[in-house]
Amino acid sequence: MEGTLQRPKHTAELLQDILERAKALPEQGKVADYIPALAEVNPDYTGIAVAELDGNVHIAGDAQIPFSIQSISKIFGLTLAMERMGDALWQRVRMEPSGQAFNSIMQLEWEQGIPRNPFINAGAIVVADTLVSHYSASRTALIQFVRSLANNPLIHADETVWQSEREHGSRNAALAYLMKSFNNIEADVETVLDHYFYQCSLNMSCVDVARSLAFLANRGLQPSSREIICDPRSTHRINAMLSTSGMYDQSGEFAFSVGLPAKSGVGGGLVAVVPDYGVICAWSPKLNRFGNSCRGMYMVTQLAEELGLSVYS
Ligand code: GLN
Repeated sequence: MEGTLQRPKHTAELLQDILERAKALPEQGKVADYIPALAEVNPDYTGIAVAELDGNVHIAGDAQIPFSIQSISKIFGLTLAMERMGDALWQRVRMEPSGQAFNSIMQLEWEQGIPRNPFINAGAIVVADTLVSHYSASRTALIQFVRSLANNPLIHADETVWQSEREHGSRNAALAYLMKSFNNIEADVETVLDHYFYQCSLNMSCVDVARSLAFLANRGLQPSSREIICDPRSTHRINAMLSTSGMYDQSGEFAFSVGLPAKSGVGGGLVAVVPDYGVICAWSPKLNRFGNSCRGMYMVTQLAEELGLSVYS
């Protein structure tokens, strides 16, 4: 109303409001079923969490229910690999948007087995190869890393999803063997794929995801533990690649309309980093044609708009 000041809504109220609006949207999207175990999830789940750097966490809806984080796990793998490999990593994977679907094979053949970026499947498989080669127990290293970031020792891989990914992972196997033929996979391909599928099958809630990635909004320092997870340069690089490639072939549109480094997964999770403020994680299983959560996109877009959170303004 003209002449009256509108009291800004409390973040929790705002989240609830946005969640309800998301649930009232016309039905759209489809749960991922190319990994059959993912199709078992209740498609109506909808949650959102915001973890602020001061430790406050705001939630609405199903924000505490663990879900299959899928490609969001690519951030964890990459962070570990960047710390272990240094700049040598960038000889094996680039930092360009792909302009292709997340599991596309064509470009990889043209570009001699060097994936466009670490957030498409081929890139994450190269990252997995570096972890398998570096650690005697790479899966244990990864889960310990994730648990300590989220401060939740109960985080685990979903065995059924892990198995289902293995059984229906022909395309990922094709990517890995193609890269092996270009000498861009060092370890045994099946071991690398096993690590990759394992990290994709981690179950975490919106709260876990938002909390665990707070270091990306804080120049690499995890606010809860005061631990340095990576240096400010690596933080900058991860956020930059999230901005250009994290939402696959919809990254341009997401930057255009929201303007935050973000990553989606085919389990319906979507995480967005707001430097100096915190991390948002939304989840709802139905996906659009790019593999991004429909309600998740809506909720993060609305929240960013209402709180004025773009990194580009
Ligand atoms: N596990 C999925 C796959 O490899 C991850 C893809 C995704 O979340 N976009 O196909």
